[in-house]
Amino acid sequence: MPLIPFKHLLNIINFFRKTENECGSEALVNVYWDKHDSTYIIDIPEQTASPASVHGSTNPAYSNDRYIHYMGIHSHCNMGAFFSEADNKDEQATRVYTVIGNVRSDFPEIKARISNGGTHLEIDPNTVFEDYNRKKAQSNAWFSQLQKRVGDITGMLFGIFSRKNGGGVK
Ligand SMILES: [Zn+2]
Repeated sequence: MPLIPFKHLLNIINFFRKTENECGSEALVNVYWDKHDSTYIIDIPEQTASPASVHGSTNPAYSNDRYIHYMGIHSHCNMGAFFSEADNKDEQATRVYTVIGNVRSDFPEIKARISNGGTHLEIDPNTVFEDYNRKKAQSNAWFSQLQKRVGDITGMLFGIFSRKNGGGVK
């Protein structure tokens, strides 16, 4: 299973912000893997939510062999990212669960875990979301620009940079 594309994560966070802002409540999003098209599907199920809880159903359209219910993601409005007692009770099905905390903040917190028949194991969100916390391709591109410019500027900066890289700026 590939990592969930970063654009999906951004869209989900923005959806959670809007729900918090306009309804003052948590929200739930389901992520399915479409085996036929080899792609992720983001679904907003029917749900009942309050400022500190959310209960959702699963969309019957994705309850068949073509789809894997890969992940459930819910928000916390002004609480950090942690799995509450209520979450422990709700998150019994075997799949990945993610909680996004402090959605009002510019930089929300993210935690993820696997539920295996109701036994939970917390995992690094990097193992399920593409480029979460490290947009590799972009930062590599920026880094190579930096090397080039530093090489072009002064001997002093060049020297520092050379040593850091064990000599020689390519
Ligand atoms: Zn929760």
